[in-house]
Amino acid sequence: LVRLRGRLSRSQNVFGKSLLSVLSRDRLDDDAWEEIEDSLIGADVGVEATGEIVGRLRERVKVLGTRTPTELRALLTAELVEALDPTLDRSLKVGGKPSVLMVVGVNGSGKTTTCGKIARVLIADGHSVLLGAADTFRAAAAEQLATWAGRVGAEVVRGPEGADPASVAFDAVKKGVDTGVDTVLVDTAGRLQNKVGLMDELSKVKRVVEKHGPVDETLLVLDATTGQNGLEQARVFTEVVDVTGVVLTKLDGTAKGGIVIAVQRKLGIPVKLVGLGEGPDDLAPFEPAAFVDALVG
Ligand code: GDP
Repeated sequence: LVRLRGRLSRSQNVFGKSLLSVLSRDRLDDDAWEEIEDSLIGADVGVEATGEIVGRLRERVKVLGTRTPTELRALLTAELVEALDPTLDRSLKVGGKPSVLMVVGVNGSGKTTTCGKIARVLIADGHSVLLGAADTFRAAAAEQLATWAGRVGAEVVRGPEGADPASVAFDAVKKGVDTGVDTVLVDTAGRLQNKVGLMDELSKVKRVVEKHGPVDETLLVLDATTGQNGLEQARVFTEVVDVTGVVLTKLDGTAKGGIVIAVQRKLGIPVKLVGLGEGPDDLAPFEPAAFVDALVG
């Protein structure tokens, strides 16, 4: 929690300070409620979610006669945690032999980096990991994944530049099966110009991977700094593949950590991990209570 607090300090400043000053006022009149709404919307919580959260908060404040800033903060925190559905299972499914995780998302969202970071966590847990470089579209992607593999001690399977992504994915999982690796992580390309092309490519990758067995997780990587727009783009991926979890990256670089609430609400998929920097250890499991606490400040 301490670590998360430090890392989210930028979110905390913007989201927390204005909010706490409003909560500390003598009277919570309509203007004050509007300011609370504005600060939530400003933190990218989203208009709809904000309306519901503030509506429920007002109701509770009325019913309970809550007054002190500490009580108000606690009620707001509870509403935000509730909006994130704290009962959801956010663990990574890594039961298969090998477990197969596909990583999808828009180019630049942090897929390759996230593959490296996940490998790091799994290897530290005693798993063996193989990275499959099925992002054959971007010239440097395979190179970058290979660098990550070296850095964290994973194996890597890559094809020539411009190779068929599905064939690289197939080879990667096949090698994982043949060599008895615990987990295969498949990095994919995220060209968004053409939804049909993307759909064809990702479903083909998934299909060939499934020749070896089921895909355990399909993780959608989403750049938190792209806000509501990024969210719309991300939705396309959920229409194309069966996404089982979201990794929200670059939370270290945004004052708009409320996007987590919008993401989970709009996509209906649990945020499982958050990216907090470019280094190998800058990945954390997403925990709603700790996150909201850091956010509210
Ligand atoms: P891809 O095209 O989706 O594979 O994206 P990359 O993994 O190449 O990442 C794009 C850029 O975002 C790189 O410069 C990464 O170092 C950076 N990046 C990825 N995740 C994070 C994060 O959590 N925080 C920050 N600050 N940068 C990140």
